Amino acid sequence: MIYDWKMELYWRMPVRLQEAALSIYARQLEKIYYGPVYKKWKDLLKGWRNWSPSFIEEWKHEQLRYIVEIAANHVPYYRHRFGDVQWRDVCSENDLQLLPLLEKQSLRGNEDSFIADTVDPKSLRVEKTSGTTGTSLRIHMSSSMLQQYWAITEVFVRNVAGVSHEMPRVAMGSRPIKRGDDINPPHWRYNRRWRQLYFSSYHISRETASDYIKAMRRYECQWMVGFGSAIAALADNALDAGLEPYPLKAVIVSGDTLLPNMRRSIEKFFQCKCYNQYGQTENTVMAMECEYERMHIIPMSGIIEILREDGSPCSAGEVGEVVGTSLLNDSMPLIRYRIGDYAAWAEERHCLCGNPNPIITKLEGRVDDYLITEDGRKIGRLAAFRRSQTIHSAQLVQDSPGHAYLLVRPGEGYRPLHAAVVCEDILERVGRFKLDVVEVPEIPKTRQGKTVTVIRLNDRPEMKEVYEKVIRKPL
Ligand SMILES: [Zn+2]
Repeated sequence: MIYDWKMELYWRMPVRLQEAALSIYARQLEKIYYGPVYKKWKDLLKGWRNWSPSFIEEWKHEQLRYIVEIAANHVPYYRHRFGDVQWRDVCSENDLQLLPLLEKQSLRGNEDSFIADTVDPKSLRVEKTSGTTGTSLRIHMSSSMLQQYWAITEVFVRNVAGVSHEMPRVAMGSRPIKRGDDINPPHWRYNRRWRQLYFSSYHISRETASDYIKAMRRYECQWMVGFGSAIAALADNALDAGLEPYPLKAVIVSGDTLLPNMRRSIEKFFQCKCYNQYGQTENTVMAMECEYERMHIIPMSGIIEILREDGSPCSAGEVGEVVGTSLLNDSMPLIRYRIGDYAAWAEERHCLCGNPNPIITKLEGRVDDYLITEDGRKIGRLAAFRRSQTIHSAQLVQDSPGHAYLLVRPGEGYRPLHAAVVCEDILERVGRFKLDVVEVPEIPKTRQGKTVTVIRLNDRPEMKEVYEKVIRKPL
């Protein structure tokens, strides 16, 4: 991603130069993502359907022992945390209970103490989480890990959906390819290097839908990847406007909850299967739906545990908290990390697709967060924006179309100016919208005890009273 001053520079460029910049950026990323390790792993993974379950188990357990050892001996946080923990006894996922759980709170602001002393921190790439709880985390990854990750994505995600990196595609995510208040078309940018069209998620409407689809035709896009809510919004608007369906080979969605009506719209307009993928920026664990809409875990990426409140493992069919241990990230090990999502193991383990890997179901906790503008547009994934280090947590509370309160829980060194920067960030993408900042001692939680990024009071009338107290105004 292009950050800060580079982003500012990018925004000032004419479209043609922006597109050239994207291609140059893609060329740089290629060196990091698609080097020799990528090629080696892709070849290795290709035959996965013929692997025996014992081979996968052995792979997982060997990698787990390696990651735990790195953590115990080379990572400041774990060296301290594992003090009297019998980490040497961890031989398989069944022994994970010996190790403590890792809270997001322990990681937040403390990321550097998770970096192994065997690597040069400057050699690592940093990805920021969108912070579903309102504060972002900095995840450090080595180039070799990223290449493994992209090889896994190619084989277990894209190829499973019948598509590949080489085919022209559309991406529709949080990437701000143009300013939200810039209403002039085009609402996309094209990366010639990867034959990838980036769609703005922030400009979809009944009026603009036909332009979006025309662009797909022009660049001969064959598949689409991105947030389910954004792609479904495009499909809905295109259907509404009576446009002729545009057939794709596949649509792969991730990042927010795929509701059944969203899947239906996507499959109807794009006349292909819509696959739901599960992952996080923290890259601890991954899963991907098969053609039978069952979500198989990808065992090479990490180990998933589903736990009850008391920490014991859930039985099949029982919803619990998803806890992930990355098997890839040896530069910044995340062990038994509480991701913040909920799921259950499927009761029926067998799947007609032939994939022997365990299936998760009832995935929830990534409730779609969006604001509604005055003209009815839905602007999602607002937590993806830059967050100030001095803001402990933040939440958007929408009381009417076009207006919301930004609740800010100040952290150490906080100044009102810092909230203003966050507002500016949001408004840049949303366009015409009014935001009022309210400083609060604590961000209210939902009934499930979770903090969500956006609360639309229309959808949650039961929360009204709670927020009236916090904002100290009738809503
Ligand atoms: Zn299956």
